[in-house]
Parts: sequence; structure tokens; C-alpha cells
Amino acid sequence: MATTAEAKREGELKMLKTARYFFDVAAQKLKLEESLVELLRYPKRKLIVHFPVRMDDGRTISFEGYRVQCHPVLGPGKGGIRYHPDTTLEEVEALAVLMNWKCAVAGLPFSGAKGGVRCNPKEMSVGEIERLTRRYAAEISVIIGPDVDIPAPDVYTSSREMAWIVDTISMHKSGEFVPGLVTGKPILLGGSVGRETATARGGFFCTLEALAHLKTKLEGATVAIQGYGNAGWYYAHFVHETGAKVIAVSDSRGGIYNSKGLDPKAVLDFKKETGTVVGFKGADKITNEELLELKCDILAPSALEDQLHEGNAPKVKAKVICELANGPTTQEADAILHERGIFVIPDILANAGGVTVSYFEWVQDRSRYFWDAERVDERLKLFMTEAFKRVLAMHLKQKVDMRTAAFMTAVARVAEAARARGLYA
Ligand code: GLU
Repeated sequence: MATTAEAKREGELKMLKTARYFFDVAAQKLKLEESLVELLRYPKRKLIVHFPVRMDDGRTISFEGYRVQCHPVLGPGKGGIRYHPDTTLEEVEALAVLMNWKCAVAGLPFSGAKGGVRCNPKEMSVGEIERLTRRYAAEISVIIGPDVDIPAPDVYTSSREMAWIVDTISMHKSGEFVPGLVTGKPILLGGSVGRETATARGGFFCTLEALAHLKTKLEGATVAIQGYGNAGWYYAHFVHETGAKVIAVSDSRGGIYNSKGLDPKAVLDFKKETGTVVGFKGADKITNEELLELKCDILAPSALEDQLHEGNAPKVKAKVICELANGPTTQEADAILHERGIFVIPDILANAGGVTVSYFEWVQDRSRYFWDAERVDERLKLFMTEAFKRVLAMHLKQKVDMRTAAFMTAVARVAEAARARGLYA
């Protein structure tokens, strides 16, 4: 039997393989010239850093961190930084590649990037996390910057870490304040209102578009959500507010189910109190696996990679899948879901709301003029709706599934820009 670490590593490689597979399919369908296939298939830069951090008990421990950047064809690199004990270079590379196509699908002037540090923040003190963040920021400072590569939060990082990064790099620049260096910052330090809800809100707009295309409505629809972090909870809130019935949610410890519908806010309060949704009154306990196979109208995988695979894809009963997580569906599962007529809103479209509001934050930082929530939400709706329409048009015209259509939309955009730029040799 594979160990957890081995299985996780296989998963990361699988995600990278899936991302490359869909790029290859898109490139082939677009008849992309060989030189561009070679250029765009791999990232431009992969940085590995080893750095020491002083721990509270006086020991000094070395950590390994990464930052991967795709070719900056459309603009500077953009993508989060994750802290996780299993983070590897391959995982960060796969996520950077997904960011590249995500930014292009959303019509943003960015290319993809991603960073990570292999560490377990759950077992570290705030002081240790701060020292790790500042040292990691200093190590990757050689390749990041407001016009080069702009990090953001990802798994187990938040506005707190972004504030430390801005402070560290600003200190390296003789105190010059550089808010455009990272997004997802606290509002007072140049963050944007609406960034926290953006991923879920973007997925919500995509869901509305998908349902309109399928000539059905969200009101009265049943929804199952895997994961109750930022994306999962706000998505539950938005669909519930619109009249859908959230029948199941879960977190890493398991899930809960009630065919009559759950109250998302009450579930959130319960999770805040106890650390998990499991045990919520008036709901049955189910496993994460069972949640994915529930009879429902909309399924939103909002947690981890590789959740829908060839083993469970034939048993999925949802009519629409909204991928709020990065890489939740394997290549094999994707083919099965498509064949079974399930409408998939692929991750690079469904969860692009987060990076879209990151773009708005970056724009606001550069002009030092900040928008109100209404303006952010209204523009997010515009960007997401247009992105959805572009992908849907490709899906209908080329008669390909939605994921291939999203990749084709993204690759065509990046290729056109690369051709216009020409080759510096
Ligand atoms: N980490 C988020 C993502 O995977 C957001 C990245 C960003 O805002 O730059 O899309």
C-alpha cells in the first residue's frame, strides 16, 4: 500500500499531468504551431529555496520553499502562496500552470505563478510563522515585484501573511511602501473590499449562467458542497440566499446531510465553535465520499485536488458541477462526467473570481484610489459573466466539453499575445 505521502505525491503528479493533457488537447484543436507548444507547455522559471528559521525553543530549522512562474506573455505572474506539509515543487508547478490558464480565461493581464513552503503551520506558533514568512519573502524577493510576479494567499495563508510580506519587502526598499507587490492584503494596507467573498461569488455567477444555459433555475435546486472553508461557506451562503437548498456540506473530518436543507450560517457558527461541521444538530452524518455521490442538482467540490476520479465519477448524480477547488477532477473522471452529460464548470473558470478581485486590488493599489463593495461586485459579475460566455461559445462552436473549451479559450489568448510579441533571440 502506498503511504499517505506517496499517494499525495502521485496526486500532485496527476494534477500536473491533467493540466498538461488539457493544454495538449487545446493546442492540437487550435492547431498551435510547434514552437508555441514547446514554449507554453512548461513554466519559465522554477525557484527552490532553502532557508533557516529560528524556532521558539531556540533551534534553527531549514525549510524548503518554491515559486514557479509561467512565461509572462500577458503580463506579470500572479498566484498564491500555500503553506502545507506535503507541498512539493510538482504541486506548485501544476498550480502555477492552472493559474496561467485561469488568468487568460478571466481576461486578466497576468500570467500564472504559484508559491509554497513545505511546513505545517498548524504546529507552529504565530512568531514562527511570521519569521518563516519574512525569510521566505526575502528569499523569493529576487523574482517577485508589482510588475513581475504578484503573490496572494492560498491554502493556510491569509491577509496576515500578505501584510508581513509587504512589510518585509518595503523594508528592503528603504521603507518605500509597495502595496502592489501582493494581493489579498488587509484593507488598511491596500487590500480590496470583496476579496474574501470573491472566489465563491465568481463561482456563483458561473452557476447562474450555467443554469440559464440549461434552461433551469437556482431557486429550489439542491446543492452539495465539499469543503467548508472560505470558498465553500460563501458559496453556500450565496446559493441559499437565492433560494437553493443546501442539502449537504463537509470538511476534512466528514460531512452532514439533510434532505430538507441546512442553514449555512448556523453550520458556520457551529464549525467556528467546534472546529468541524460534523455533529451539527438536525443533520445526518455522511462521509466526504458519500457527499460526492449524493442525488442533487449542483455539486461544488471546494476542498482538495483529485476528489472526482474514475472510481466515483460513474456514480455522481449531480447535473452541474461547479469546481471551486483547484484540480478537483482527474482527467479520467472528466471524460466520464462529460460522457454522462453532466455539465462541468471547470476550475480555471469557476474559481477565477478570487484572482479577478486580486486584479482589482492591484489596480486600486497602483492608483491609490479604492473602490466600494458595489463597484467591486458589479465588475466581478461583468468579468465572470463574460468569461463564462466566451467559454460557452467555444464549447458550442467547437463541440468540446467545457474544460477543453476553457483551455482552448485560454491557450488561444496567450498564443495570440505570444505571436504579437514575437521572439527575442
Ligand atoms: N490562490 C488563489 C487561486 O488559486 C488566488 C490567487 C490570486 O489571487 O492571485 O486562484
